[in-house]
Amino acid sequence: MDKGTKERKRTHVKKGDTVFVLTGKDRGKKGKVLKSIPSEMRVIVEGVNMVTKHKRPTGRGQQGGIIHQEASVDSSNVMLCCPKCGAGTRIGMEVTDTGRKYRKCKKCGDVIDIVLDGKDQGR
Ligand SMILES: [Zn+2]
Repeated sequence: MDKGTKERKRTHVKKGDTVFVLTGKDRGKKGKVLKSIPSEMRVIVEGVNMVTKHKRPTGRGQQGGIIHQEASVDSSNVMLCCPKCGAGTRIGMEVTDTGRKYRKCKKCGDVIDIVLDGKDQGR
């Protein structure tokens, strides 16, 4: 029934992945994906694209101030990092005999993880 008729957006990295930033002011930085926003093809990476927000005091005892937090970056601007090689490497997608997809580092051949697809998709 579900043969990919409807377009499924997906970022190539997901929460928990370690990624390498390719462009922008944080180019060369490495960080962990805190959140992926597949509908916008964006990701939020720990310590990357920090923005300063002025927070207004909300209610009694609360102090306003300046907070620093991560803003999302385009997922095409980050590259998945191999835990073994460290730096951003080329990641390939391979399929096992049983039809399971997995991501693999093209440099060292290490399997990064199994890709959950279709009904296996985690929540
Ligand atoms: Zn590797």
